Amino acid sequence: MGLKIVHDGSLPGDVQENCCMCRKPTRWWWGTGARNVALCHECAKTTKASQLPSKAEWIASERQKRTKEQA
Ligand SMILES: [Zn+2]
Repeated sequence: MGLKIVHDGSLPGDVQENCCMCRKPTRWWWGTGARNVALCHECAKTTKASQLPSKAEWIASERQKRTKEQA
């Protein structure tokens, strides 16, 4: 089982987004629209859709973490 993820079509060298669960850079995504988030292969195997953040939640938390990392 596991969640179905799709490759974003980016090329090697393009910027990768961080997985919404483990923050590992990934080119794989789950969901559509408001529930479209980056999700790596490992997390897709072990995570349920109900555990995933919404796109807005994910972007907000990424922004917060990135700000902290730069401080
Ligand atoms: Zn992950």
